[in-house]
Amino acid sequence: MGADRPWGGPAADRFVDVQDLIVQRPEGLYCPPGDFYIDPWRRVERAVITHAHADHARAGHGHYLATAVSEGVLRARLGNITLQPLAYGDVVEHRGVRISLHPAGHVLGSAQVRVEQAGRVWVASGDYKVAPDPTCAAFEPVRCDVFITESTFGLPIYRWQTDAQVFAEINAWWAQNAALGRASVLACYSFGKAQRLLAGVDASIGPIVCHAAAEPINRAYREAGVALPDTTPATSLDKSAVGRALVLCPPAAMAGTWLRRFGDHSDAFASGWMRLRGGRRRGGFDRGFALSDHADWPGLMSAIGATGAQRVIVTHGSVPVMVRHLTEQGLQAEAFETQYGDTQEAAAEASV
Ligand SMILES: [Zn+2]
Ligand SMILES: [Zn+2]
Repeated sequence: MGADRPWGGPAADRFVDVQDLIVQRPEGLYCPPGDFYIDPWRRVERAVITHAHADHARAGHGHYLATAVSEGVLRARLGNITLQPLAYGDVVEHRGVRISLHPAGHVLGSAQVRVEQAGRVWVASGDYKVAPDPTCAAFEPVRCDVFITESTFGLPIYRWQTDAQVFAEINAWWAQNAALGRASVLACYSFGKAQRLLAGVDASIGPIVCHAAAEPINRAYREAGVALPDTTPATSLDKSAVGRALVLCPPAAMAGTWLRRFGDHSDAFASGWMRLRGGRRRGGFDRGFALSDHADWPGLMSAIGATGAQRVIVTHGSVPVMVRHLTEQGLQAEAFETQYGDTQEAAAEASV
């Protein structure tokens, strides 16, 4: 029947971007009717930024739109940018496209971007997690026709423990080291992970030293109203207190001379990637704690389901596995190639 019917039939692939609210371009994810990008990796005139991690928020764009809560961290990282802050849930209408930002539960100020035009709703998630985190607003499911999802930990093997379990392990490790009079050095990403660790550990065990890389971010969190325990610069820590200290530093600082001041110590790494490494002695570290700011497999699936989207576009991570699984679930699933990825975490993982 198809051959003798001159009209109708499916749209040709090359016309897809006439209808799609968000498409991929060499610069990044692009909204054609709104003429703006979401988390672009090349310089553009207008950029909506989901959150301040380096792979999503780059310097050099003409105009930024991001959550009001993320403003402090964005400015701490990118300096003097032209930023229009938007409260979660508020709408800005741009060239007939309604744009709003909704909590992604990933780090302070992180957002999913909801775009609506002519009755169609698309949501680009950026990075997200669905588990509770005291340092940022909880992930909010947003109903949409098309959902663009990350897939960093998009394999069924990834299932996180609860925060209570992970922090019980971290506190026990710290307390044991303190009893032995040796510092506890915990490597972690400076934005997001460091603050989540600060908020979760038992600060009564001993003093907490934070590497200078995390301090401007800590300040932005405190100014945004997130309660974090006091932190001490490495240089002002009393020598007698070193053996009870918890030291938070980026993985890169582990290799340098910065750590020498703490003498004999136990070291550990806090990252979702630690899930793959069995029990103790992960890589070069004494301990690994599986703590991630990304959704695990059940989290990704519940988040996708809650959107009600019939079409899902998968970005950075386990793309083929997720696309296949979602297709098997009866959804229209496809992939966007992006340049997102936890480069710091991945680099640290590669080096351990
Ligand atoms: Zn991120
Ligand atoms: Zn990312």
